[in-house]
Amino acid sequence: MIGNLVEFKEITRKHARTEQDTPDQHPNKVFIASRSPVVVALRVAAFDAAFALSIKLTKLKRAGREEEYAEAWCSVKKVGSDDARSRDCISQVLGCPISIKAFGDNVSKLRHIVAGQHYSINGLKITTIPGKPQEYTVNSDTVIEKSGEKSAGLLLDLAPLSDLRTGQRDLNVIGVIIQYDENATHGAKNGNKWVRRKFTIANADGKIAVTLWGSTAESFKGSVGNVALLCGVSIQEYKGFISLQLPSYPCILLDPAFLECEELHRWYKDSVKINGVPEGLAYSVDYPMMTLVDAVDKACSSENEDICFKSEAVVISINDSEISYISCGMCKKKIKDSGECPAHGYDIGETCTRYLLKITIGEADNQMNTTAFESVGDSLFKMSANELANLATENPSAYDDAFRKIVGKTYTISIRAKYVSESQLLQSTIMSMVPVVMDE
Ligand SMILES: [Zn+2]
Repeated sequence: MIGNLVEFKEITRKHARTEQDTPDQHPNKVFIASRSPVVVALRVAAFDAAFALSIKLTKLKRAGREEEYAEAWCSVKKVGSDDARSRDCISQVLGCPISIKAFGDNVSKLRHIVAGQHYSINGLKITTIPGKPQEYTVNSDTVIEKSGEKSAGLLLDLAPLSDLRTGQRDLNVIGVIIQYDENATHGAKNGNKWVRRKFTIANADGKIAVTLWGSTAESFKGSVGNVALLCGVSIQEYKGFISLQLPSYPCILLDPAFLECEELHRWYKDSVKINGVPEGLAYSVDYPMMTLVDAVDKACSSENEDICFKSEAVVISINDSEISYISCGMCKKKIKDSGECPAHGYDIGETCTRYLLKITIGEADNQMNTTAFESVGDSLFKMSANELANLATENPSAYDDAFRKIVGKTYTISIRAKYVSESQLLQSTIMSMVPVVMDE
């Protein structure tokens, strides 16, 4: 089952006050807005396409009475209203999931939402409080209907973990939690108390550290194996590694219901783990733009140390005498001539054909020999290593075409390289290749 795994707990509504709802009438309420909130109640917020990511039903105490409460998280694409003022208001949140809340009698309208389906939603009330995310509330005019939207589930762009750059902002990132601080760390500096919780998210491309602070760190209840969708993050560099910086009111969804989430669960379940952590994952690093010449200089001046860089380069050739290897079914290691895996001996399960490409890339008069593996091969050829190998015998002209589509083209290539002093060779591995779109 996916979706709805966020822990149910009693929630006290802390902010967002409405016209009928003043501190005098409800003395128990906590107001945390430091200045009077600006309330915009247009009653026209409408989304033609809202994709439900999670739905939570619970009870909360409001003005001393227990009340039904529902909260749905949706990613939204189309704003249905023609009202310019309302469009301006909503445009701030497109690209980030929104939370739609319902209280008391209005809960019945939200209750039927199922995570993983599309809806059209009309007549939500928007509440804007300076410095906080907008709030969307179901009221008596709200109409929620299943929509005929045919697009793939998530209406958000997801940034690939392997291609994050320092300074990027407002990204949505998703990964499986592979390491998690069960207990938040408490400390104090200069008399100010702080709370911190660290965890690591990963996918097949790599892993990245996430640090939560303050009340978010205390209230966040993830665990290893959950898929976490983090929205509106920015990217920072720390000692050459990339880390995620969350906005002050972060949106973190656990196990949201959509396709990529299921795929991540599958990847995590199938991955080979050491002490419970998928093996062979590197922390995401910054790939600064460099020429091949500068990169080689840098690698040679820091012997036996990995350097990472990005270059815009042309694929000069791909050696097709050997494009793949047979790997152990339990890990990705190459099977020796004796039929053994270096790690698993003869207990190799079902073996697998994986890409191992020797690619020569060039930039001006300079060339570099590089190696590329599974994920790069898949994205370059848009087929598996096995399928490509079959093509060689079954359809030689299609096989040649597959190479012709790549050779001579320019790509933005992320590379990890190391100058090995013992062999006096530069080892260089392609981590990702993205075609450069040339202006016609
Ligand atoms: Zn093995």
